[in-house]
Amino acid sequence: MSKFDYDLFVIGAGSGGVRAARMAAGFGARVAVAEDRYMGGTCVNVGCVPKKLYVYASQFSDAYRDATGFGWGEAAPTFNWNVLRDNKVEEISRLNGIYVNLLENSGAEIFNARAKITGPNTVLVGDKELSAERILIATGGWPFIPNFPGSEHAISSNEVFDLAEFPKRVLVVGGGYIAVEFAGIFQGLGADTTLLYRGELFLRSFDQEVREFVATEIARKGVNLAFNSNIENIEKQADGSLLATLTDGTQTEADMILYATGRKPNLLDLGLENINVKLSAKGTIEVDENFQTSQANIYAVGDVIGGAELTPVALAEGMALARHLYSPEHKNAPCNMDYESIPTAVFCQPNIGTVGLSEEQAKEKYGEISVFSSSFRALKNTISGSEERTMMKMIVDKASDRVIGVHMVGPDAGEIIQGIAIAIKAGATKAVFDGTIGIHPTAAEEFVTMREATR
Ligand code: FAD
Ligand code: NDP
Repeated sequence: MSKFDYDLFVIGAGSGGVRAARMAAGFGARVAVAEDRYMGGTCVNVGCVPKKLYVYASQFSDAYRDATGFGWGEAAPTFNWNVLRDNKVEEISRLNGIYVNLLENSGAEIFNARAKITGPNTVLVGDKELSAERILIATGGWPFIPNFPGSEHAISSNEVFDLAEFPKRVLVVGGGYIAVEFAGIFQGLGADTTLLYRGELFLRSFDQEVREFVATEIARKGVNLAFNSNIENIEKQADGSLLATLTDGTQTEADMILYATGRKPNLLDLGLENINVKLSAKGTIEVDENFQTSQANIYAVGDVIGGAELTPVALAEGMALARHLYSPEHKNAPCNMDYESIPTAVFCQPNIGTVGLSEEQAKEKYGEISVFSSSFRALKNTISGSEERTMMKMIVDKASDRVIGVHMVGPDAGEIIQGIAIAIKAGATKAVFDGTIGIHPTAAEEFVTMREATR
């Protein structure tokens, strides 16, 4: 009989924590999970899921407009923010319940409370100190808003989903995933939207051609793009609106200012001072290839360890760790997480889907590459009247003929690239793509019909 209350104590019931807890319990470990805010973590409550619901909502304005070219009468229904928000709340609470069931059915015990580590084998949950042979830190991240005069008037992605009123004028600050996604959401829902980014062009680390293409398409939709720009201060005015003074001295008014300027590991009051867990220069928890921290019985997965801050990555890490620690067949085998060619989508409008290397990264890594690139107006937009264009791009290593990067900007790019990512993982060559028969008429068939290298 173990001298500990649990074999594994998981802190945080987000993507990584829930997956690790469920799997470990399924392998027979005695597992506890503490969660102090919301079951399912960021992704379910203030991330991927509500975000995608809002993206769907925002696409109807284009859809109504496009419909007239197909013979439907002019339709200009009004948008009701309260209905969207409240339906979202209901759906998320349904999902919260599913997460509780999943954990309970796996045999894990849930504590709806904040957990604080008090020693290598002890965790304080409420006023109870519990012991565990191993502790898993899966506490995720927290939005970061820089400190400047008036920064308290800005909101983060944590608050944006549940606004009491729909803002007519929106300023979004940042140039990463969240900024471009929410600029698209608010513009599509009818707000006058400006995206401010401090650099030359947003979406740093994405393929340059993709970034330029997306900037053109987003601007075409009506988002006002202000690059090389930042906010110096924000003042709240008598009527409740916000006055932002920008770095170039100009001023702009808004009803809401969303800061999407990155996330930091969520380690506040976790009790790290009571253990010997090393942090990286960025403040993330350092782990080895088996997610073990410098305190041998303490592990960490997900956003809190940095790297690609994506739900499927946190899930894969949680799974790999549970197998490594408790699976009867794989116990003690290395986790072997493969971080190569992680596909990802940005749900801006149109979507970006991408897997593998950008043209710039490919050139640097492989030297001799061929680039196949194509941009076109999709069939639907011939009579919809929409000017929106779609872009597809493949990067091939000349020496091996392997496809090493695939990028798409267009409707459902995330859905399409997920399939292509399997081919890339399997090491598909350009010849394999060329030998694949297309599905006609689709946009995706372009990926198997791009014959002539662009450069
Ligand atoms: P989290 O899901 O953040 O879970 C950590 C949990 O720990 C939280 O529930 C927190 O309350 C809890 N916790 C923290 N400290 C304690 C404590 N001391 N005691 C008890 N509980 C604690 N990724 C995608 O792949 N696709 C997307 O479309 C996508 N969209 C996103 C949109 C937004 C707006 C945001 C913010 C993120 C998005 N992400 C997306 C990223 C994704 O949400 C994260 O990568 C993922 O949730 C990380 O999972 P995690 O388990 O590491 O942490
Ligand atoms: P990102 O790290 O993607 O982007 C942060 C942006 O903020 C960058 O453009 C950065 O600029 C800018 N920035 C940072 N600090 C400042 C500052 N002090 N002043 C002005 N601008 C600043 O973070 P996000 O917040 O957009 O999202 C967090 C993570 O969540 C993402 O990286 C992603 O992993 C995940 N996510 C995934 C989604 C998906 O899969 N679809 C959707 C949403 C989030 P610079 O480039 O110059 O450094």
